[in-house]
Amino acid sequence: MNGIMQGKRGLIMGVANNHSIAWGISKALAAQGAELAFTYQGEALGKRVKPLAAELGSDFIVPCDVEDIASVDALFQTIREKWGALDFVVHAIGFSDKNELKGLYADTTRENFSRTMVISCFSFTEIAKRAAELMTNGGSMLTLTYNGSQRVIPNYNVMGVAKAALEASVRYLAADYGPRDIRVNAISAGPVRTLAGAGISDARAIYAWNQKNAPLRRTADIDDIGGSALYLLSNLSRGVTGECHYVDCGYNITSTPTLEVLSK
Ligand code: NAD
Repeated sequence: MNGIMQGKRGLIMGVANNHSIAWGISKALAAQGAELAFTYQGEALGKRVKPLAAELGSDFIVPCDVEDIASVDALFQTIREKWGALDFVVHAIGFSDKNELKGLYADTTRENFSRTMVISCFSFTEIAKRAAELMTNGGSMLTLTYNGSQRVIPNYNVMGVAKAALEASVRYLAADYGPRDIRVNAISAGPVRTLAGAGISDARAIYAWNQKNAPLRRTADIDDIGGSALYLLSNLSRGVTGECHYVDCGYNITSTPTLEVLSK
């Protein structure tokens, strides 16, 4: 197959099912000729990921729970043995206790704050460090964030704090690895109906509000995000690093609701 990702090999972390943002990204990459390896978190999700990977011509699927650093090390050892090198990595992983994705941010517990930070933020740094060792010919890394990092979005709470730290990590990692021609960027996606998205209280109301008020009068879907990810992971964006690129149908530029909404 010919395409702009022909000859490139990459790791996709974060496919849970065919609604996952990582799945939209995987489809866009595979359509342009990329060869993909997938991780899955636990056997139940593995059963879903295996046929999805097969749909894109991949049988390279490896278990990995980022809370267990031994499984992260084992993953990169497997990639080293099988491929020897890596061109790109997608980190589409986030988690927080859903009991704390409602109510007051001030009620966040120490335990859940730490766990949310490790899974949703620090795991990207741990993965970037291991991936960079395999990016001997340069490379591109991508993580997923949300505008709750910059603005207060009801119920996003500790995830907003973790995403702010994740976005700062993107800038520091971009500075660390830039001299090796390894680029590090984030996509800040608008709300998407996924497993992770459903964990946030009143997610449906936020989704509907974005649909009504975004300049494009809709929310971005996983194929929209896949298109932008393809750009950031390919040589088309070779001069871009340390960026947080919004794929939210423009919602982040708005301040007040649209006149249609205000006049109702
Ligand atoms: P999803 O539920 O499909 O994907 C989340 C993934 O995180 C799952 O594959 C899950 O297995 C993985 N994960 C969670 N804890 C893990 C762990 N300990 N080890 C390994 N993997 C783990 O949901 P999604 O919405 O596609 O989420 C992907 C990313 O996009 C997340 O970082 C999320 O915060 C971000 N994001 C989502 C939205 C949205 O509205 N859905 C918007 C902006 C950003």
